[in-house]
Amino acid sequence: MRCYSCNGLSHVPLCTHCRKTLLIPSVQMRQVGTLRIYSLFAYDTVESLLLTKHKSEGYRIYRALGKFYLKPFIHHLQSHLSISFYVVGIDERIVSGYSHIAQLTHPLRNKDIEVDHGVLIAENRISYAGKSLAYRLEHPRNFRYTGKKENIVLIDDIITTGTTLHEAAYRIQKEGGNVLFAVVVADASR
Ligand SMILES: [Zn+2]
Repeated sequence: MRCYSCNGLSHVPLCTHCRKTLLIPSVQMRQVGTLRIYSLFAYDTVESLLLTKHKSEGYRIYRALGKFYLKPFIHHLQSHLSISFYVVGIDERIVSGYSHIAQLTHPLRNKDIEVDHGVLIAENRISYAGKSLAYRLEHPRNFRYTGKKENIVLIDDIITTGTTLHEAAYRIQKEGGNVLFAVVVADASR
C-alpha cells in the first residue's frame, strides 16, 4: 500500500518516515468547564488524514492514528497515574461501514485499560460542521450512556468549541460516572 501522508510505498498507512519527520505530536491541554482536554496535534497538521473519515481508507487511517499516537500518550498517562482507565469513544456509531472513533479507541486496550465500544451514543445526530457556538448550545447531542462509572477517559477525533465533549462528560457525571479527562487527535483552534 501507499502512505496516506506522502504517497510513498509503505506496509502501514502512515510510513515510518512521515511518523518521524512530519507527524510529530505537540500535546496541548485545554479546559472546558471542569473537563481537561488534551490534544495531540494542531488541526492543520493532520487535516488530510482526518478528512478520510467515512471514506473506505479512513478505517485504516483512524486505526493508525489510534495505534501510533493516542496509544503511546494514553499508556504514558496510565502508567504515570497508576490507575486503570476505562476508555469511552464519543458517539461510536457506524457510518459507511465502520465507526471512525471506534478505530481510534480499539488499539488503546491493555491490561490496565479497558475499552467498551458504543456505550456513549448521541440521540441527536445533527451536524455541527460550520455551526456557531450558540447553535451548538441550542441543539445538544442528547447523549445516552450505558458504560461503567470508574476512571473514564473520553476520546474524540477533533475538538472545535468543546461543547460535544463537555456535554458528554456532563451526561456521564449525571449518571454517576467519574470522567478523568478527554483526549482528542486534533484541536481545530490551534
Ligand atoms: Zn509517508
